[in-house]
Amino acid sequence: MGHHIVFLGPPGAGKGTHARRLGERFRLPHIATGDLLRSSIRNGTTAGKQARTFVESGKLVPDRLIVQMIKERFEHPDVASGFILDGFPRTVEQAEALDEILARDKKQIDLVIDFRASEETLIERLSGRRTCPRCDANYHVRNIPTRREGICDGCGSDLVERQDDRLETVRARLKVYGVETKPLSEYYERRKLLRTVDGNLGIEELQEKLVEYLERNDLA
Ligand code: ADP
Ligand code: ZN
Repeated sequence: MGHHIVFLGPPGAGKGTHARRLGERFRLPHIATGDLLRSSIRNGTTAGKQARTFVESGKLVPDRLIVQMIKERFEHPDVASGFILDGFPRTVEQAEALDEILARDKKQIDLVIDFRASEETLIERLSGRRTCPRCDANYHVRNIPTRREGICDGCGSDLVERQDDRLETVRARLKVYGVETKPLSEYYERRKLLRTVDGNLGIEELQEKLVEYLERNDLA
């Protein structure tokens, strides 16, 4: 019986949207390293200062910084029954570090969902994405509109366009994904943990499939 889940896939494939919903449904913490980094940057912490230029230019922040961040996050008691990791691991080194951290607590990754989507879909989604700087909710100008234009449904803050969602930076992020993160699919495939899903599907349709996978993983 396992609750330690990793969401893998390129930016814009829907990891965050689905992880957030499934986390609520299955009462699992949704841990998004991108959100943790943006909040450290906003708060001007040491880690935030070190990460800033990497995040804003669409590069990966150094492994040791992100692994340290995850270690600290895992100290919260809410991870006792599992988690959905969104955006971590992103390199083979990070995946190995994660395995080691979990092994110390006699835990392991139980399920990896690999989101695949066409480059066209990814670019369309990222260029229309709007983000809440307060609660990290994501919207899309056409696909996920807010009730009031430009205002977060959840907390009422003004939405922003992430600096790294500009087209040149999006292209850089997709390239980094191909080189650094894609090899992770094979890493988890070899261990028979990987399930591939079609990220081009609409939100509701894919959500249903994911619920099925998680329930079959004995989480319900
Ligand atoms: P997306 O998945 O849409 O690219 P994220 O919010 O997950 O967006 O990540 C935004 C940025 O944060 C990345 O481009 C990268 O700079 C940094 N980042 C997030 N997670 C990691 C990670 N595991 N390792 C290195 N850098 C990361
Ligand atoms: Zn909000």
